[in-house]
Amino acid sequence: MAATGQDSFHQHFFPFTEGFRYVPINEQRELLDALALLDALNDSICGIMIELVQGEGGVTVMEREYAQYVEQICKERDILLIVDEVQTGIGRTGTFLCCEQYHIHPNIITLAKGLGAGLPIGAVLMDETVGEIFQPGQHGSTFGGNPVVCAGGVEVLKQVRNEAFLSGVSAKGVFFFLYQYFST
Ligand SMILES: *Cc1c(COP(=O)(O)O)cnc(C)c1O
Repeated sequence: MAATGQDSFHQHFFPFTEGFRYVPINEQRELLDALALLDALNDSICGIMIELVQGEGGVTVMEREYAQYVEQICKERDILLIVDEVQTGIGRTGTFLCCEQYHIHPNIITLAKGLGAGLPIGAVLMDETVGEIFQPGQHGSTFGGNPVVCAGGVEVLKQVRNEAFLSGVSAKGVFFFLYQYFST
């Protein structure tokens, strides 16, 4: 809840996890967004969390150059790059992960929603820099990761990782993009 920039989520359930800062994307010219990000950084910042297509925040598509810039800043300053792919992952943008289209390699990726096709499941993917920190069972919930939802998740992965399915998603994406473009 603290990670989202939406004030409506910051009205109840105090106290929130401290230390989050929010920066604009696509609000100003790209250079100014980049400067706003630099301005928000200090030695206490350990991670930058982004969505490549914002869902809850309004359907905002992050510029590829900006995402790559964020990755570069993270590398230079030893900051973890976290990409929330809950809405963009699992084939929803035409590749299994949206990161693939941005050519970025986050340290942490979060997945949920589409992963379970309606069953309640979430997952976090970690690269080797952080993968050893969490062990199975250290962070979960009583019925989290149960066999029923996991069976659903495995089936979703089997269906979605199919090239023909993914190219169909891309084609529909182009259609909707053009439709929106020509109908306004
Ligand atoms: C829904 C959503 C979440 C939370 O997913 P849970 O399944 O509740 O863990 C996180 N990030 C984004 C972008 C979402 O849309």
